[in-house]
Amino acid sequence: MKAMESAPDFVVDTAKGVYVFDEHGRRYLDAHAGLWLVNAGYGRKEIVQAMAEQAERLAWFPSFGGMANRPSLDLAERLVEILQPEGMASVFFSNDGSEAVETALKLSRLYWKSKGQPRKTKLIGRHHAYHGVTYGALSVAGITANRTLFEPFVGDVYHAPAPYVSHCAFHGPTTGCTYACVAELERMIQFQDPDTVAAFIAEPVQAAGGVIIPPPDYLARVRDLCARYHVLFIADEVVTAFGRLGTWTGSRYYGIQPDMMTFAKGLTSGYMPLGATAVSGDVFDTITSQAADGPEFRHGNTYSGHPVACAAAIANLEIIENEDLAANAQHVGEWMGQELKVLSEAYPDAAQYPGCIGLLGRIEIVPGKADKPGQRALRVAQKMKERGVIVRTAQDILTLSPPLIMTKEQGQDIIDALRQALVEEM
Ligand code: PLP
Repeated sequence: MKAMESAPDFVVDTAKGVYVFDEHGRRYLDAHAGLWLVNAGYGRKEIVQAMAEQAERLAWFPSFGGMANRPSLDLAERLVEILQPEGMASVFFSNDGSEAVETALKLSRLYWKSKGQPRKTKLIGRHHAYHGVTYGALSVAGITANRTLFEPFVGDVYHAPAPYVSHCAFHGPTTGCTYACVAELERMIQFQDPDTVAAFIAEPVQAAGGVIIPPPDYLARVRDLCARYHVLFIADEVVTAFGRLGTWTGSRYYGIQPDMMTFAKGLTSGYMPLGATAVSGDVFDTITSQAADGPEFRHGNTYSGHPVACAAAIANLEIIENEDLAANAQHVGEWMGQELKVLSEAYPDAAQYPGCIGLLGRIEIVPGKADKPGQRALRVAQKMKERGVIVRTAQDILTLSPPLIMTKEQGQDIIDALRQALVEEM
């Protein structure tokens, strides 16, 4: 806030493709797609045109309570089609990721009440998780710095360990993963009493927590666990969907079918705010078949299913499909992961634990002896920015999430800027 009060030194004015330009006309490669979301790249005329046409035709009309607008219906249909492998049957729209998560959490309690099991109310999140800023979402989230000043939280919420292989809560990175965090989750569910647990929520890859890539079988194992104990599995796909991991969704990357999924960000590539919560046929049927007269779900935002946002999403999904951006993310991401590995081997005192799935990447910057946690990573990020590349940090971790249209040649600028910053740090 203070930085904004004095003159903010970085005001972005225009953007095109993978680049943003500040008010002085200086060009930066946006290696973070804003906040993990401009998947289709900046300046896409197709999306802007779809929005303009929709705004002129019908700028807004509600899309719940027995009323609808056509783009929200079309988008819901399109999403259910895309999410067939994940088994999603129905979609509820909101404005952003926090609201999409909030919707899923409320639906999970409603589901068990509809099933005649009102004691199943407890929610389980994970350490290092980010799910948004609203109280429900923040309650299941697990980044301590975001939480402490806002306590107390929504009741009956618990946190399982993250599948953080390089910083495992149970053993060091060299032992090899034993999936101890999955066993701990099982113990938690047993201890709480499965008859009182409504849902478990997990990002397929924990993004804001530092791009924490789980061991290969983790998602399948926790998904099975939830099924065994009758706990709903919510996949928070706000970052991981729409091509980011080289697949339509993170759940598909790991081969699982959740009970609910939450989306935002890449759904419109940021051209309009929009959140979505998708549910399985079982969740939808249970809630709708058991409802008394009146609305099944007393919940909705004024702007749920905003037609201009839905029109932007439809145009954006068309680009992701037609240009096969998931395949590009996989192809370029494989290369980027390799390059990060090479850098960590070349400068082990400054960089370690590289990782990349699709175009979601990370590398940890080892703090120098005199550095506070995160300080050296911030210095490296600043040096990269001086060379025209924007990245983000999560404590000691440098996170990468460029637009999915990025080519290897463009990506080389990220790697070169990182290498030069590391050299200066040695
Ligand atoms: N869930 C995840 C996984 C996120 O990364 C975020 C935002 O970064 C959210 C939810 C919240 O989304 P929003 O900021 O749109 O409310």
